[in-house]
Amino acid sequence: MDEVKFCSSCGKLTSSCYTYCPWCGKSLESKTDLSQVLSRSMDKLEKIQLADRLHELEKLETCLDNLEEELEAFLSKASH
Ligand SMILES: [Zn+2]
Repeated sequence: MDEVKFCSSCGKLTSSCYTYCPWCGKSLESKTDLSQVLSRSMDKLEKIQLADRLHELEKLETCLDNLEEELEAFLSKASH
C-alpha cells in the first residue's frame, strides 16, 4: 500500500509512489513539514472566514439602514 503525503510546495495530497508532485511538478524527495502545510491551509481558511464575516456585516448594515428609515418614517407620522 502506498504511503500518502502532502506536497511541501503546493500542499496537495499525493502518493509516495511519485518522485515528483503530480500537481505542481516539485520534487517530493524532501520530507514534508506537515505543520507548515497545515498552517498555510489555516491561513487560507481564516481569510475565507474573514471575507464571509465582512459580507455578513455589510448585509447587517443594510438591514440597519432600512430599519432606521422605517423608524424615522414612523416617528414623523407619530409626531403629527
Ligand atoms: Zn505540489
